[in-house]
Amino acid sequence: MADVLPKLDIKYWQAVADFKLHHLESYPDKSIALGIYEGMARTEEDIHLLKVMREKCQTMIAFGSCSCFGGIPGMANFSDIEECYDVKFRENKTVTGGEVPTENLPPIADVVKPNNMFVDFEIYLPGCPPTSKLILTALTALFEGKPIELPPHTVCHYCNREKKETPIEKVLRPYQGIADPDRCLLEQGYICVGSATWGLCEGQCVNKGATCRGCFGPPPPIMQDHGANSISMLGSYAPMDPKDLVDQVKDPLGTFWRFDYPTSHLGQIRIKREEAKKK
Ligand code: SF4
Ligand code: SF4
Repeated sequence: MADVLPKLDIKYWQAVADFKLHHLESYPDKSIALGIYEGMARTEEDIHLLKVMREKCQTMIAFGSCSCFGGIPGMANFSDIEECYDVKFRENKTVTGGEVPTENLPPIADVVKPNNMFVDFEIYLPGCPPTSKLILTALTALFEGKPIELPPHTVCHYCNREKKETPIEKVLRPYQGIADPDRCLLEQGYICVGSATWGLCEGQCVNKGATCRGCFGPPPPIMQDHGANSISMLGSYAPMDPKDLVDQVKDPLGTFWRFDYPTSHLGQIRIKREEAKKK
């Protein structure tokens, strides 16, 4: 990164350069070659910054799974905003006063919307976090004026474990039993969503002994419903009564939509309901 920095003419980057929002706002539209937006936009300040960046930048990258799909913060949509305030301020044992602050807190949106509901992006680079190899591949292509070419394979493609096409008899939590290091974790009963997940990490977790939790989201076309695809995959491996299967999966929302609830069908219904309340 240090080698690259002198080649960049940075216009706005809060963590690295002392430019303020009003500097960014003052640039002519489309005068900046590239904007990289990380994180989801929950406050009105975030949403404003996202829209200003879109106006000023020719190309926009959604960087990381929060920016692409809502990410872990998108799970806040499982609760309504007042429940979030309860946890964060009113009932939080480490906060004194138990009041929601009224000063120095930008207005917070009632629900997390995916960034692409506010602006369009030319490029999506998911991951929690994106790997250094992915970042290097993307930035090298951009600097050389070439298209970013990313392999479309799922995590299973990179997984060294053997699949024997055997059905799941019982769903196991990660701490239950000792997994065979050579066999597909899903076939052993551990919920691994590698077959529904874009393999840009090249199977980092599954090749080190942990299940894939889906942090890179769905493969291209990446705005598929990753959680629904994961459930469908699990159902095809577990020939049991759907009710028994549901009973065995603890925390289904957090298991299947951990990184991309706001872009899922269920998540979109949740957002539409919130919008309907305002009409
Ligand atoms: S489901 Fe998981 S453990 Fe099984 S082959 Fe795919 S990535 Fe590997
Ligand atoms: S294996 Fe799955 S959870 Fe692990 S880094 Fe890759 S996509 Fe993320």
